[in-house]
Amino acid sequence: MPDPHSTPPGECPQCWHHAHDRTVHKGMRGDCPQCVDHMLNGCPNRVPKRSRWW
Ligand SMILES: [Zn+2]
Ligand SMILES: [Zn+2]
Repeated sequence: MPDPHSTPPGECPQCWHHAHDRTVHKGMRGDCPQCVDHMLNGCPNRVPKRSRWW
């Protein structure tokens, strides 16, 4: 079970949190405006991947 409060590298914290914490969208019909914005425009701040090759 993924932890909604610890975003893995390469994932968007906002999308990750909203995707795995059901309470965020509770009472909403579908996704919240932030999620819709990320779906349409992409995620502006993903967690950077820690690459071994750097
Ligand atoms: Zn959302
Ligand atoms: Zn996102």
